[in-house]
Amino acid sequence: MYTAQDPTTQYPRPPFPPQQQSGPGDIHQMDPAPDHGETTYIGLGRLPGRKALITGADSGIGRAIAIAYAREGADVALSYLPEEQAQAEEVAALVEKEGRTAVLLPGDLQVEQTNIDVVEKAVAGLGGIDILVINAGTMPTVDSIDDFETKTLDHVVKANIYPLFWLTKAASPHLQPGAAIITTSSIQGFQPSPSLAEYAVSKAGIANWTRALSQQLIERGIRVNGVAPGPVWTPLQPAFVPNEKIEQFGAQTPIGRAAQPVELAPAFVFLASQEASYVIGETIAVTGGSPMH
Ligand code: NAD
Ligand code: MG
Repeated sequence: MYTAQDPTTQYPRPPFPPQQQSGPGDIHQMDPAPDHGETTYIGLGRLPGRKALITGADSGIGRAIAIAYAREGADVALSYLPEEQAQAEEVAALVEKEGRTAVLLPGDLQVEQTNIDVVEKAVAGLGGIDILVINAGTMPTVDSIDDFETKTLDHVVKANIYPLFWLTKAASPHLQPGAAIITTSSIQGFQPSPSLAEYAVSKAGIANWTRALSQQLIERGIRVNGVAPGPVWTPLQPAFVPNEKIEQFGAQTPIGRAAQPVELAPAFVFLASQEASYVIGETIAVTGGSPMH
């Protein structure tokens, strides 16, 4: 990933084989296997001695962030759903292989108390916290307003929006000047697909929250930013998107393919690092060329 080359052919292009999973999904059931940087991400010491809590860290983008942060010199606390324990343990082993500390934090973040517990255990296990990556998310698809159900929206908002407030409130007393909070929005928050209204409105909310909280917290020297990915090859896709869309997944982007999770990690590294000292309240598009604004 450090050799100059044609990005259009650097990673697999559609068509992808048809495949479906039930949520939250397993990276080992995906074909082709996603690249989270396990054998590719090197790291240049951008996060020396930092202490990061990452949600959704077992798979997909969060897994790639955890691997990258450890290789950039950070200790990492990993939040994930209890049924993802095996995947989370793999990430912990990769983090520990770098000589860094990994803290495993299973739990459902739709429950307020879980958010408080996750932060307290991260602080105890890492000896503090100075990077908070709020990345966990769910993405039900609903094709028609006639199929709208209150419980679907409750679930999306509880999983994708409430933890922004709960985790940040719990972390706030521990955050010192130089700390960074990073959210995962989506191109869906700016250019919504018709069958993702519940998800898209939550992702727009994440970008909006990022702007609001960045203005609150910069007074304390804490930066808040976000990343808006385009299509990324993660378990979220076979878990929530029907096969006809999986086969052509990513084809609609100017680059002509989906991202691999490892391609998202550098944006999260940059936003966490002191190199981004003047970047505040921004949501960076990593969309393969699809215009976001
Ligand atoms: P993923 O399934 O690998 O990661 C999502 C993670 O969220 C899961 O692993 C799970 O640990 C966590 N999670 C979900 N519900 C939870 C809950 N109630 N409590 C605790 N944890 C919970 O998929 P991903 O694509 O890496 O998703 C990461 C983020 O990226 C999500 O916010 C998603 O919306 C966003 N995103 C993904 C894409 C894409 O195409 N894959 C595009 C744009 C944005
Ligand atoms: Mg997962």
